Amino acid sequence: MTAAAKDDDFGSKKSKNVAVIGAGVSGLAAAYKLKSNGVKVTVFEAEGRAGGKLRSVSHHDLIWDEGANTMTESEVEVKSLLDDLGLREKQQFPIAQNKRYIVRNGMPVLIPTNPVALIKSNFLSAQSKLQIILEPFLWKKNESSKVSDTDIQESVGEFFQRHFGKEVVDYLIDPFVAGTSAGDPESLSARHNFPDLWNLEKRFGSIIAGAVKAKLSAKKEKNGEKKGSSEKKKRQHGSFSFLGGMQTLTDTLCTELGKDGVKLESKVLSLSYSYDGKSTFENWSVSYASKGGKHAQASSYDAIIMTAPLCNVKEININKGRNRFSLDFLPQMSYMPLSVIITTFKKEDVKRPLEGFGVLVPSKEQQNGLKTLGTLFSSMMFPDRSPKDLYLYTTFVGGSRNKELAKASTYKKLQTFHFG
Ligand SMILES: Cc1cc2nc3c(=O)[nH]c(=O)nc-3n(C[C@H](O)[C@H](O)[C@H](O)COP(=O)(O)OP(=O)(O)OC[C@H]3O[C@@H](n4cnc5c(N)ncnc54)[C@H](O)[C@@H]3O)c2cc1C
Repeated sequence: MTAAAKDDDFGSKKSKNVAVIGAGVSGLAAAYKLKSNGVKVTVFEAEGRAGGKLRSVSHHDLIWDEGANTMTESEVEVKSLLDDLGLREKQQFPIAQNKRYIVRNGMPVLIPTNPVALIKSNFLSAQSKLQIILEPFLWKKNESSKVSDTDIQESVGEFFQRHFGKEVVDYLIDPFVAGTSAGDPESLSARHNFPDLWNLEKRFGSIIAGAVKAKLSAKKEKNGEKKGSSEKKKRQHGSFSFLGGMQTLTDTLCTELGKDGVKLESKVLSLSYSYDGKSTFENWSVSYASKGGKHAQASSYDAIIMTAPLCNVKEININKGRNRFSLDFLPQMSYMPLSVIITTFKKEDVKRPLEGFGVLVPSKEQQNGLKTLGTLFSSMMFPDRSPKDLYLYTTFVGGSRNKELAKASTYKKLQTFHFG
């Protein structure tokens, strides 16, 4: 994105003009980066608010997030974005974020945080532990690469079952996938959802041996470099939010872009590109429905950045000259319905409060009556999210596991989980 904003990339020194479709975090961050590089930028947003899937709500001394609850800064671009926006002071790291639970037989069980703790714990059966210990010996390079090459479409479930067995898929991978994408291990591609592990298998055969080797070589590389402070390490690896919730990030981006930079209630209906033979740029125009459904047109954009979800992109007419530009190359995507339930409990009514990040529910636990995907211990992580006498929890319902429940009434949803 930074490179695209440089004058040279646009072929002339004249200040360029870019339209960004969608004022979620992707569109706002792209627009901010372009603006910082001297590019004139306008963000078109269909809704009356910016932020997209980042939505923080403040209500009666409670603060909760209805979309993303935390983020990480493993990418260097995120790190510099937070620095540039001056958001370090507002960054909030969850208390005891390594304490995460998975439900087993109806009860939350602490997830072991390292391989030794996993082997020592009762979390998995002796057979699964043995399979984990033997994995480096069973998965020699030749054997694994043969399987992976012929089966590019292998699912996440199949991939992990080959290496670690069914119990690991049922009680570690399934809840993890449900908690991060609301999907299920059988319908997601291993290659695309776990590219690092997929590549480790390609290179080393064994995932465990590969991970150890990759860690050792990364350590060697770092040896020359000065060791970072523990705060820096925490920043690189931990999840975090912001004072006021995740929307603080998009609110700050909006402030930086200014009122004129973000056009709310401006749903883009069509894009037209015409080439005048002189320049490759300055030829995009944007038609959009503004307040009250009125149609409006804005023109002379050098480039368009599209950040709307694919299902919305498919509704936009794109014309190149007089011809319709077909979007049939876009993949078919199914979006999983997901509902977020916010609950508060008086502290005195919670008999066994769990400290930590949250609890994930494997789909197998539906047989024990638990139909949710998981619950974040929101006010345990961030005590300022609720008054002192209350606990605030954020529970996710639906996903591929239970699509109907995502659309059900609040009462029906509340019947499906018991907590406390
Ligand atoms: C419940 C939930 C929990 C999540 N939890 C996490 C988490 O903990 N950590 C994490 O990293 N991620 C999480 N995610 C994912 C994360 O929130 C999203 O990946 C991210 O916010 C997507 O941002 P975006 O800008 O790409 O898209 P969006 O936020 O979807 O923004 C796209 C914007 O485009 C606008 N738009 C659509 N069509 C048009 C049009 N025709 N014209 C103009 N504007 C248009 C939309 O109104 C929207 O504002 C979660 C998502 C959900 C739903």
